Amino acid sequence: MMDKSAGINHSGTTVLNQSYNKSTHQAIVWRNVILFAYLHLAALYGALLIFTSAKIATTIFAIFMYQVSLIGITAGAHRLWSHRSYKAKWPLRVILMICNTVAFQNHVFEWSRDHRLHHKYSETNADPHNANRGFFFSHIGWLLCRKHPDIMDKGRGIDVKDLLADPIVAFQKKYYKFLMPMLCFIIPTLIPVYCWGESWSNSWFVAAMFRYTFSLNITWLVNSAAHMWGGRPYDRFINPAENITVALLALGEGWHNYHHVFPWDYKAAELGDYRLNITTAFIDFFAKIGWAYDLKTVSADTLRKRMERTGAEDKELPWGWDDKDLSLSDREAATIINKQG
Ligand SMILES: [Zn+2]
Ligand SMILES: [Zn+2]
Repeated sequence: MMDKSAGINHSGTTVLNQSYNKSTHQAIVWRNVILFAYLHLAALYGALLIFTSAKIATTIFAIFMYQVSLIGITAGAHRLWSHRSYKAKWPLRVILMICNTVAFQNHVFEWSRDHRLHHKYSETNADPHNANRGFFFSHIGWLLCRKHPDIMDKGRGIDVKDLLADPIVAFQKKYYKFLMPMLCFIIPTLIPVYCWGESWSNSWFVAAMFRYTFSLNITWLVNSAAHMWGGRPYDRFINPAENITVALLALGEGWHNYHHVFPWDYKAAELGDYRLNITTAFIDFFAKIGWAYDLKTVSADTLRKRMERTGAEDKELPWGWDDKDLSLSDREAATIINKQG
């Protein structure tokens, strides 16, 4: 159970459980409301076309592009650039930048800056998608209104110099207005039309609109569902949770309790295999050929100690010294007076 009353958590940091201050007005951005309304209606129509008139090749292509775009977010903007959980040589960074541009979730610089804020000030007004404001806000609502002033305020204190020092990130930012429409909408619409004779309408609504809107919603589930539902074996004092459904859909990003405790782990998870963490399989593959290196992960000892300190409290309390439920760390840390033998 979450201890909402806690002022200090077991890691010694202050629990920032401030609720949303409704007096700070955040104006609705109607342009975004209209754009997202169109996107979702177009995606629904695309879903209908998948089952009525689109060629199977177009649907397979849309699924492939969904995976490509998500890798650009998970292995790229997230685990590489936001968290620096591994390093990548320039050919891999170029691949990840291209995949990331297909995803159109703003360029890597902006995504990573927002994401570092999300981790530093999780569930406060300075968190761009503060899950304390409910499912809708943390899912899509945060993109439909102006940012809370605390985001600008705390954002100034977040170090992002490393991001623009990467020429590939700087290149993407500089040419984003040209690269994004080409890679997210134009090329994915042209390929089905010219490669296997798909109609323009099927191509636009399935390979562009449906694929893009679906991938957005899957990514948003990490901010909404994985901040609400699931177990909390690593830190029961925070909202992020282990959500297997999100892990499956978001290529391994649903192990969110673990991820918020150890954001520098390139696997973003302890549990699950490659099926539930395709992003880790992707990074491991590139590590094998030498393009990904310095992969950071948590030692078994650190993990055990953290779980014993802040993990889920569902195990039985020990009855005394010889009970197997007495944790090893408690046993080792016990002071034994007048010890004999
Ligand atoms: Zn999160
Ligand atoms: Zn993260």
